[in-house]
Amino acid sequence: MFKHLKAVSGDPLLALIMAHKQDSNPKKIDLGVGVYKDDNGHTPILNSVKKAEAILLEQEDSKSYLGIYGATEFEGIIKDLILGEGNPLINSGRIRSTQTPGGTGALKVAADFISANLKDARLWVSDPTWGNHQSIFNSAGVEVKAYPYYDPATNGLRFDDMMATLEAEAQAGDVLLLHACCHNPTGIDLQFNHWEIITDFVNKRGLLPLVDAAYQGFGDGLDEDLAGLRHMAANVQDMLIANSFSKNFGIYRERCGGLSVIAASAPEANAAFSIIGQAIRANYSMPPAHGAAVVYTIMSDPALKAEWELEVTAMRDRINDLRAKLVAKLAASGVSKDFSFIQDQRGMFSYSGLTLEQVRKLRSEYAIYIADTGRMSIAGVSDNNIDYLCESIKKVVG
Ligand code: PMP
Repeated sequence: MFKHLKAVSGDPLLALIMAHKQDSNPKKIDLGVGVYKDDNGHTPILNSVKKAEAILLEQEDSKSYLGIYGATEFEGIIKDLILGEGNPLINSGRIRSTQTPGGTGALKVAADFISANLKDARLWVSDPTWGNHQSIFNSAGVEVKAYPYYDPATNGLRFDDMMATLEAEAQAGDVLLLHACCHNPTGIDLQFNHWEIITDFVNKRGLLPLVDAAYQGFGDGLDEDLAGLRHMAANVQDMLIANSFSKNFGIYRERCGGLSVIAASAPEANAAFSIIGQAIRANYSMPPAHGAAVVYTIMSDPALKAEWELEVTAMRDRINDLRAKLVAKLAASGVSKDFSFIQDQRGMFSYSGLTLEQVRKLRSEYAIYIADTGRMSIAGVSDNNIDYLCESIKKVVG
């Protein structure tokens, strides 16, 4: 039955992580994996999460099924977090939100919803984008097209080219995928005025925006990071938002995210939400409970919520501090390339501008593991390894 099957190569990033694990060099550095790490290279459990789990251990009294949308009380938490408490959309009836297994689950349900209900819709993604976007939408049978985004010449954004391509090629009914903040893989974000321009364009052309918010809180702040998304939500009729709690609550393996649909009216939102429910039922029936219960417990307790906000701030500050240190230490090393753009990037990742040859040399000669594209996970840098990292980059770049 399986004789004809050929093994697939899998995600090169997972291979990179494995190669780092097997490397015996004591100076090795993993800048591949996209999870937050502390100065000891450890991905900690947040104190607020530990406290919420202790409460749940005490109070949880059933493991019975929850339902396809997960815990009903979680819907309000998702809306408050992504739109901001008190946002007039929340009580308008025009937005419905469901718990999903991570941001990936939200995107998969969105892909199935789009594929089955929005005939001929194509999905526009940034070039480059998170590798799984392409896989998720292809597997749902949605054609994926790319708009220009990253400019290797300036290590910046090709906004004019992005808009020119969309202007020339995007068709009414197409879906436009945008990263809310902390763009993966480049770290280069749209600025607020870009969101304003894109919102106008979406309305003019009749596109459906799908915003992927996987790193809320990792850029400039929990509210600041979603200012563009919120502007768009307030000014379009229809929108999909896939969000992840994996990073900002550090609950990666618990698989917790949300999918929200905004429609022109409450009946339209409810109809779309019922069809999203159907897609969920056919995919995984219902989401796991624990991660959402942790998030709910934190968000509904003012003291825990305040503690969590401080913990998010600490993670964000650490990453932004590392960016500043990296830029300063690279400049001090006398390296020929100007790396100051790293400080303007946001979130866990940085397109470093290192070439494939330089990345390979760093891997083979210095045990520094960076993706072939030059994407570095800034959280993998620490006070313990930053000097070695900068010295090695100087040796390789010249
Ligand atoms: N979107 C983007 C842009 C991401 O980087 C990720 C995680 N790497 C996700 C979605 C999915 O996150 P989760 O782990 O919650 O499925």
